[in-house]
Amino acid sequence: MKNPFEKYYKKSKNEKLTILEEQNYLTRKEIKQITQQVGLTEEVASHMIENQITLYNLPFGIAPNFLINDKEYVIPMVTEEPSVIAAASNAAKLIKQAGGFTTFQPKRYMVGEVALQNCPNPKQAIQAIKKEANKLVELANLAYPSIVKRGGGAIELSVKELKNQEDNFIVVYLTVDTCEAMGANMLNTMLEALVVPLEELTGGQRLMAILSNFAVQSLASAKCQIPCELLAKGAITGEEVRDNIIQATNFAKMDIYRATTHNKGIMNGIDAIVIATGNDWRAIEAGCHAYASHTGQYQPMTNWTKAKNGDLVGTITLPLAVGTVGGSIGIHPGAQLAHSLLDKPSASQLAQIIACVGLGQNLAAVKALVTDGIQKGHMQLQAKSLAIAVGATGEEISQLTSALLKEKGFNQALATQILKDLRK
Ligand code: NDP
Repeated sequence: MKNPFEKYYKKSKNEKLTILEEQNYLTRKEIKQITQQVGLTEEVASHMIENQITLYNLPFGIAPNFLINDKEYVIPMVTEEPSVIAAASNAAKLIKQAGGFTTFQPKRYMVGEVALQNCPNPKQAIQAIKKEANKLVELANLAYPSIVKRGGGAIELSVKELKNQEDNFIVVYLTVDTCEAMGANMLNTMLEALVVPLEELTGGQRLMAILSNFAVQSLASAKCQIPCELLAKGAITGEEVRDNIIQATNFAKMDIYRATTHNKGIMNGIDAIVIATGNDWRAIEAGCHAYASHTGQYQPMTNWTKAKNGDLVGTITLPLAVGTVGGSIGIHPGAQLAHSLLDKPSASQLAQIIACVGLGQNLAAVKALVTDGIQKGHMQLQAKSLAIAVGATGEEISQLTSALLKEKGFNQALATQILKDLRK
């Protein structure tokens, strides 16, 4: 069967939308909404934040061809960076040919902490908290009964002492099943409810009670396996591309300069879908980078290895505590549209989809780096951005873009001059 998304990027916006409707990714009503307005209204925005003065728009695009656990997805992505969606689509198409992504998320809990200081007897404090752990979990649940009704709620509580020469803290960690929500506010409400009982039990004082974004109880993983023949690029054999992709990861494991950029490329994709789906991208950024350093050395977020049969195998595991409800998800029409495009996944499914986007984005970037170099694929999109930046409009944009691409290199002065000549 012909792939409906073949050369999708070359189609007009109407054609693009028609394909999404024909392929049942969006309803007629949603398509109509897109042609009118999917962004926030001034009215809603004014209630979302303090001192709102206007709206700030970003492009919303899709990356098709993501085959995840045998299901086809088009990925909603909100990004200002020209090459992100092209790269994600490219990698997804390649991985689809190889059988797609497989994913898993064994559990999905959030953890929050209450930090106590000045406990007169830390050992006794720990014993007292351990003894009352079940009661404290019950108290946390009483503070947010609706999540218990939904089948979630606080599950367990643990305690430890953290100390150095100057300081000593008793830290209580609460693990909560937040169901479909990311759960920050839920956790914070539950944790606040534990502060006074904990102070009474320990004789210590509250320092703080807050959710943790180190969401290691919400790890989501994705994997793909690609035969070498799909990796060949021009004169470079598939085996060479495979080996260099593996070497690129090995290099990133040893060089923090590279690991940081390697991971930035992964977050290009992850942030774009996290923003599109109305989730808190700062929370995801913080968690992913912290997890990248959980061994004590900042590491690449993906791993590429050689399978026994010679295929290239890619894996990613990240803390992805995203929600399908709560925060701005229900308020932002763009977020609603993104969830529809993804066929309204559960929070756990969404996390797994996001992991695939990160892995695909990384494959695209590293493959480009070890073959053509990153700039070749970026040129077209950069030339277009530059054309717009120097003031080209309408037809001028494609005329100036083509003219710039014929040059050996381009910059703002050259673009301005060519635009001036075009207008003569
Ligand atoms: P909300 O405070 O919006 O809580 C989730 C809401 O979703 C609740 O009102 C809940 O209803 C409702 N809901 C409906 N269906 C479900 C379901 N199936 N499962 C779970 N909840 C459901 O959001 P969160 O607690 O998720 O907090 C996320 C927000 O907190 C984000 O905006 C984030 O930016 C922000 N935040 C993040 C912090 C951080 O990351 N460190 C810190 C502080 C805030 P009901 O109440 O009836 O159960």
